[in-house]
Amino acid sequence: MTADTPSATLIDGKAFAARLTTRVGAAAARLEASTGVRPGLAVVIVGEDAASQIYVRNKGETTLRAGMRSDTHALPKDSSQIDLLALIARLNADAGIHGILVQLPLPDHIDAALVLGAIDPDKDVDGFHVINAGRLAVGLPGMVPCTPLGCVMLLKHELGSLSGLNAVVVGRSNIVGKPMAQLLLAESCTVTIAHSRTRDLPALCRTADILVAAVGRAEMITGDWIKPGATVIDVGINRVPSRDPVKAAEGRTRIVGDVAFEDAARVAGRITPVPGGVGPMTIACLLANTYTAACRVAGVQPDSLDA
Ligand code: NDP
Repeated sequence: MTADTPSATLIDGKAFAARLTTRVGAAAARLEASTGVRPGLAVVIVGEDAASQIYVRNKGETTLRAGMRSDTHALPKDSSQIDLLALIARLNADAGIHGILVQLPLPDHIDAALVLGAIDPDKDVDGFHVINAGRLAVGLPGMVPCTPLGCVMLLKHELGSLSGLNAVVVGRSNIVGKPMAQLLLAESCTVTIAHSRTRDLPALCRTADILVAAVGRAEMITGDWIKPGATVIDVGINRVPSRDPVKAAEGRTRIVGDVAFEDAARVAGRITPVPGGVGPMTIACLLANTYTAACRVAGVQPDSLDA
């Protein structure tokens, strides 16, 4: 093997997510057979954003494949905040719905924080409600945001115990960076959160046994930022022009992460690809959260979803 040969083991999030979805489906079937409760997920989308419509369709199809109830509420982009809040109130009161997800981003005239705050925290399968953020911060059981939850599942599957490892999380958003850091802390990692004001980010990243990139900047993290043998989790989803100049001229694009994959794979020990790494885990964890919420309503302990 030369210094230029990729040496990292690929973390196959797509395959892991498929197995997790199968386990959730089986657990949901057992729940329904023993209690009559069929887990139900309602997804609300406002407007016609193309990427959001694809995400919502994927969520609906995967939910149905897992044998759960799936309702999609598509509202026109000029829907009022009052109409949206009224829908959330109806879903909160619907005994057949255990999880409610409002697809972001919402149109500018709607206060996203207000809408997310109106979801019953026990049905907040995205884990964005402040009650759930607080539960995570103090170590109480609650709904954990799906993307960081999926990242931790992958890490534990790959590494076993994470205790004592140095973790650097690049990004401090409420939906990825902060909950990711909380979850790693709960696994007894020594956690540093980096952001746009961090000084000498490459040097900080080189201290990481676990490096999580949740920035939204295409291929920002290169191989020389990575400690040899480190585990790299790339959350980023960025659209860049196609490699083929003809296709690029036609406006065709491809998806890349926040990590320059080929460069990083020469240094890292393990790495998630984009696509096929963290992304599929997000939907699988959404189903897992919906199943857990339904178990709570049924008054039973959720089955273990571990591999
Ligand atoms: P946000 O834009 O909310 O947050 C980005 C974070 O990155 C901010 O904390 C920002 O710092 C930090 N940042 C920006 N530029 C730099 C820089 N040059 N150096 C260091 N830090 C920087 O994004 P999200 O957390 O919502 O998403 C991050 C990425 O993950 C996106 O690509 C998104 O598409 C993807 N994503 C993927 C999901 C999946 O299922 N795989 C799910 C959710 C998101 P500051 O706070 O200082 O501005």
